[in-house]
Amino acid sequence: MKLYEFMAYELIEKIRNKEISILELAETCFERIEETELILHSFVNLSKEKALEEAKSLDKDLKEDKKIGRLYGLPLANKDLICVKNFPTTCGSKILHDYHPPYNAFVIDRLVKHEGAIHIGNTNMDEFAMGSSTENSCYGPTYNPWDISRVPGGSSGGSAASIASGQAILSLGSDTGGSIRCPAAFCGTVGLKPTYGRVSRYGLVAFANSLDQIGTITKCVYDSALMLEIISGKDLLDSTSVDMKIDNYTEELKKPIDKKIIGVPMEFFGEGIDNEVESAVRKAIDKLERLGAKTIDISIPHLEYTVATYYLLCMSEASSNLARYDGLRYGNMSDNLSGDVYDVFSRTRGEKFGPEVRRRIFLGTFALSAGYYNMFYIKALKVRSLIKNDFVEAFKKCDSIVCPTMPSTAFQIGEFIDDPLQMYIADILTCPVNLAGIPALSIPCGFDSNDLPIGFQIIGDYFDEKGILNIGYQLEQDLNIYRKIAPVTKGGK
Ligand code: GLN
Repeated sequence: MKLYEFMAYELIEKIRNKEISILELAETCFERIEETELILHSFVNLSKEKALEEAKSLDKDLKEDKKIGRLYGLPLANKDLICVKNFPTTCGSKILHDYHPPYNAFVIDRLVKHEGAIHIGNTNMDEFAMGSSTENSCYGPTYNPWDISRVPGGSSGGSAASIASGQAILSLGSDTGGSIRCPAAFCGTVGLKPTYGRVSRYGLVAFANSLDQIGTITKCVYDSALMLEIISGKDLLDSTSVDMKIDNYTEELKKPIDKKIIGVPMEFFGEGIDNEVESAVRKAIDKLERLGAKTIDISIPHLEYTVATYYLLCMSEASSNLARYDGLRYGNMSDNLSGDVYDVFSRTRGEKFGPEVRRRIFLGTFALSAGYYNMFYIKALKVRSLIKNDFVEAFKKCDSIVCPTMPSTAFQIGEFIDDPLQMYIADILTCPVNLAGIPALSIPCGFDSNDLPIGFQIIGDYFDEKGILNIGYQLEQDLNIYRKIAPVTKGGK
């Protein structure tokens, strides 16, 4: 077995017991990157030299019995919109092409500085996290390690592909409407989107602030629980981060789930859900029942309005957030400086933003314009409350909610690139979670007839990450498919 096939918690044991060195592990990951990166394109920038130096130095500290943190030098892949000091953090966009942040994001400080993970590089993503396929990156797409003719999901597609293929051991993503859970599902990995406010967004480049949340993509539930313990908590630099007790997520995993009441929302199994996805998810629900959980039917009546509401709100917020990139105050300027200041601003934004980002800025600006503000933006806010209330009502009857993560398995590269609406509709099962601000986990629950992974989503009540991780862990152990490493070949039969 290759080192990159082990779970993070197993590698920690091996390093702690001196069976392997931190350098050996880092080198294994970089060898795997060398072997697969030309095919997958998970990374936009690598930090090999610095990472290997760091590994040597941690090995030395370990030898001298110095404390090196709970993550023992595990290789960490970081989504390209979470700031790493002095390292290019570009959001998959030409406009931030050579941006080197002067500071670390809160989560990077926690994982790397405090707990000794090693940052090995930044991963590819849809530009400014807008997309579900990682095709909207200025660097070109990432390919799905299970079938390289398909998308890895998005927008955190690079992070998910790096974990599924063994290029990295831990990874970070961000989730505004599903960008952690979608690629986790398409790549057969575990994706955790925490409650809004559980993890500081300091140093996360904003797409839509009221929906954005940093989370994790890992091979197994335990590893995500471990990362969450480290990245959770109040941060004075993010006023929306919440000062609440941080649970011992890793300890809670092992508890039996026989007292749990699990809600199955009928609307999440409606039209548009692929048969093979539905059948794998229903089988996993049967397993939960065999593990002793009780399932009940519940309803999220406003589900049909979630995609429209989500897109109105995220585009409105994005149009405002991205207004700062004019080439003068933020971002790279166009080389052509002819005309007045407005000409230069427009030219810069036209040249440096990709088509999906421009589309969203247009639509968001329109929705916020004086004449239409009430009709679109304010109305969407009202519907958001209705959707949130649906979940509040549902959680009066059950502990967690389960459903598919995505309506289908990974689609072909290019399949929806000219049909943005189809791509947006694929977010129907993930974006309601962000509108409500609640936590959700995606774990692999099986494979379809093309050997593509299927994602199972477990949605929790506010700050009940421990509950969803517990259910996810028990199901994962029972299904026992999480150790498979993706083949990095062209799939299909
Ligand atoms: N697919 C969604 C979108 O394009 C979600 C993006 C995200 O979560 N960052 O907006």
